[in-house]
Amino acid sequence: MSGAEARYTCELCRSPRIIRFNSVTRLFDTGHDNGLSLFSDIHRCQDGMLGINNLHVDHNYDVRSFDPLKLPSEKKQATSGLGLPMPKVSEDGMKRIRVTDSVGAGGFRLSIRDKGLDIFLLVGDVKPDVEETVLSITSAKGSIELSLFPSVEVSKYLPNWLQNLVDTLELLPPTKIGLFIDTLRYIRKLDKIPSANFHKTILRTILSSHKISFSMMPDRYVIELEKKRDLLGHDTVSDMTTLLEYLKLFPETTLLQFSGVYPHEISDLIYLFLLLQQEGFLFMNYST
Ligand SMILES: [Zn+2]
Repeated sequence: MSGAEARYTCELCRSPRIIRFNSVTRLFDTGHDNGLSLFSDIHRCQDGMLGINNLHVDHNYDVRSFDPLKLPSEKKQATSGLGLPMPKVSEDGMKRIRVTDSVGAGGFRLSIRDKGLDIFLLVGDVKPDVEETVLSITSAKGSIELSLFPSVEVSKYLPNWLQNLVDTLELLPPTKIGLFIDTLRYIRKLDKIPSANFHKTILRTILSSHKISFSMMPDRYVIELEKKRDLLGHDTVSDMTTLLEYLKLFPETTLLQFSGVYPHEISDLIYLFLLLQQEGFLFMNYST
């Protein structure tokens, strides 16, 4: 099996994709007897946005179908403001969304049940009806439930990070599925330390980055940033300058679109924008 690959062209960004299968990205049995296996291809897609395509691959590693993952566009009211018990949502009414590649998601195998979006998101080859959970977390208002299945080490701080994730998801308008994956990878990098308020801001910013736009401060010039090279570091100031100059040319750019311009982890990009805001060069607008 090692060395096998599948090729297809993403219909959204038109880029040719090569998926290599090894022991980690193995094909897995979907339980269908059509002989096709499901595999999720995660890549920077349109506008630099993280996209996920679910592919059905046959025994010869030919891609037989292509299904880009999307969330519903509206979040319905999931909780009553009056402290009344929430109506039970039957599982039949929930849309199941599966992302097979748990490697891109930091190695997590988990499920997220979101009653506001009517979705049941499965990350990795989990079998939620059969497997025992390692950890179960419910959001503050009860509309989102996360179950972790055997996968990553449960560090002392991981439950708190995942609690912050579901609490944040509950407060936001619908996010993009790719951004869940970005967020999980970010959490995986940091779950050995306690999450501070600063990290909560980053989680919220990653998850809503498709909605975030910028206002430039009219009387600040890039030349002022030059004076901060010693304080902030040479590379940081160069990166900040690149972002400011791009924003001058394309003032409508959203944070998520910047991830196509600046090809690093979105959490690093957010860190630079937070620095620019702190230094008084721009404002980040969280529109809902
Ligand atoms: Zn694409």
